[in-house]
Amino acid sequence: MSIAETATKTATLTAQAVKDVVEIKTPPSGHWVGDGFPVRTIFSYDNARAFSPFLLMDYAGPLNFPPAQKRRGVGEHPHRGFETVTIVYSGEVEHRDSSGGGGKIGPGDVQWMTAGSGLVHEEMHSAAYTKSGGPFEAIQLWVNLPARLKMTKPKYQGIVAGQIPQMDLPGGAGTLRVISGQFGDAKGPAETHTPMNLWDVRLNGGHGVTLSLPSGHTASVFVLKGHISVNGKSEGRAAELIVLDRKGEGVRIDADADTHLVILSGEPIDEPVFGYGPFVMNTESEIRQAMTDYQSGRMGRLTA
Ligand code: MN
Repeated sequence: MSIAETATKTATLTAQAVKDVVEIKTPPSGHWVGDGFPVRTIFSYDNARAFSPFLLMDYAGPLNFPPAQKRRGVGEHPHRGFETVTIVYSGEVEHRDSSGGGGKIGPGDVQWMTAGSGLVHEEMHSAAYTKSGGPFEAIQLWVNLPARLKMTKPKYQGIVAGQIPQMDLPGGAGTLRVISGQFGDAKGPAETHTPMNLWDVRLNGGHGVTLSLPSGHTASVFVLKGHISVNGKSEGRAAELIVLDRKGEGVRIDADADTHLVILSGEPIDEPVFGYGPFVMNTESEIRQAMTDYQSGRMGRLTA
């Protein structure tokens, strides 16, 4: 479907067809992940049904780091059973893992790491960013894998900003970057294991957009910056998450001020979720196995 067709289709969405706002979540107080990531956990899988296939969203920053000598970050730790997706807006993050994956991502870039059967990794500020200091802002999502793929081979996708299609929204409303999934003719570069849209949206103040979202998919809108009204009814401010119903085919968003949003939607994986720390599986016995496998070195080690 072309952008024009999408615009026409979305413009005809009736009030009955939009995805209703189920909840507006205000941000919790923050905590540090290692010494590099001041995060607020915007949602987690204690309510997996509302967000599946997304398990968790950590919002890091915005925070200004002073220049330093020693790299900040989080040292070697494991994951199994899902994917970590890191979107950097300011600052620079360097990653390496025991499956041989690794890379450096800066503003606009995305790292899509499939932990699958298990790996250990470290997530650090880059050497150059440590030295220069400056603003830091990033999002990390945890994306679930269906039971049949939880033990898939680890994989690393480093996606730079230039690979991510950026579409102009109708009427000069702003822009939409397709990280994964589809918007109009544009397909996101991230390869996913189940259908999901991950869109990075900037709206100009005083403008709005109606976006199609698949019926039956979970959907939510996270506000990084600005102030929006959703479906002409509910308001969302910075660091708030607007949770939408699975039912309905789209959402109307109007921005009062220049606004930065991340929009998530996906086909839910309706399977049991059993997580503990860095592992998210389907059952408690699989978590015990993950701990045993990690402790005995079966997820590998980072070389010094
Ligand atoms: Mn990690």
